[in-house]
Amino acid sequence: MKAFTNAKLVFPDRIEDGTVLVEDGKILASGNVLLPKQAEVIDLAGAYLGPGLVDNHCHGYIDPVHRENCRDMASDPEGAARGHLRAGTTSITPSAAYSWTKEAFLNMTRLCRKAIARGDSSIIGIHFEGPFTNPKYGARSENAWTYSREVCDEILDAAGEDLLHCTYAPELPNAPEFEQILRSRGIVMDIGHTELSPEDARRAVANGASVVTHLFDAMGCWRGRDSIAQTGVLQESADAVLLSMPGLMYELICDSRGVHVKPCNAALALRAAGEDNIILITDSADRMDYDPHDFPPEDPHSAMDLRFNERGQLSGSGLVLSAACRNFMRFTGADIRTAFKCASYNPARALRLDGRVGSILPGRDANLLVVNEAFEVQKVYFRGEPVE
Ligand SMILES: [Zn+2]
Repeated sequence: MKAFTNAKLVFPDRIEDGTVLVEDGKILASGNVLLPKQAEVIDLAGAYLGPGLVDNHCHGYIDPVHRENCRDMASDPEGAARGHLRAGTTSITPSAAYSWTKEAFLNMTRLCRKAIARGDSSIIGIHFEGPFTNPKYGARSENAWTYSREVCDEILDAAGEDLLHCTYAPELPNAPEFEQILRSRGIVMDIGHTELSPEDARRAVANGASVVTHLFDAMGCWRGRDSIAQTGVLQESADAVLLSMPGLMYELICDSRGVHVKPCNAALALRAAGEDNIILITDSADRMDYDPHDFPPEDPHSAMDLRFNERGQLSGSGLVLSAACRNFMRFTGADIRTAFKCASYNPARALRLDGRVGSILPGRDANLLVVNEAFEVQKVYFRGEPVE
């Protein structure tokens, strides 16, 4: 048994001084508990002890210093997951993207399922970002797929129960059918890469959509059947339509420059949706094709956690989730407890995994993160064991 003691314990609703007891990779007790005689004591010297982070949206790992350590989810999801694990992410759902070929979807799916079946990896499930999204939104989206029942069944069958959530655009012609398919398979439905109308949003939520994929990023304004010519009303942006709806949780990519989400928009989302409904993600990419040091500081290309493709389009981040927590706190004024909640408890809840991960409550996996008051990672424990 291990006793992590002399810590500020971060629960979803409070911070309290105490101890976490761990046995066989699980949390036995947390709070004001007596130290059992036989426990190995780990004194945390007053640091914050919260749950390991949960990243629901990630395409790869970018090592800011050693380029050879970069990994992409398509060919090495376990390698990418290990990179994020060292930075504090103890649960991750690798994301296949709308711009990938079917073979890349199937390859990542196969590799992830192998790791999940083995049971010793931080990969807890799979995320399909698409493939049925709106080709008008997102980098390289000319590769977005057109819907067919056949290809839909093929990729969903390949992923089976390990596919935990799927991003789609509710305005696409076959979206209502796709919603019924996802619902019947118990897959969490994320809305994203979209220019949906208020009517589409209402139908999607009624059919079970519960998460918004990176709010304020890769979204537009509907100009279709609800256009001003038909309704006499100026159409709102998809971000505003979605933020105004009840019953949704919202992903935010908080990069250091506020490019994916402007600081005030992050604060607006937190105020509007409340701390129960914000999910921090990395949307991390797999590599950089240029050296950020070659650019002047005012150029966004100089940021280590932003990534642009050869056409200059924003194309994912180089974030790790603990860094996203720091940016979120800076942008919104949120405290450490709220940052932990939005990067562990909420994403776990969105995927219905909160009985297993996402908090330091008894019975959960002993995935623990030790940070200082600036949310700088001091130590990571995966199922009770230190991560080196
Ligand atoms: Zn995306």
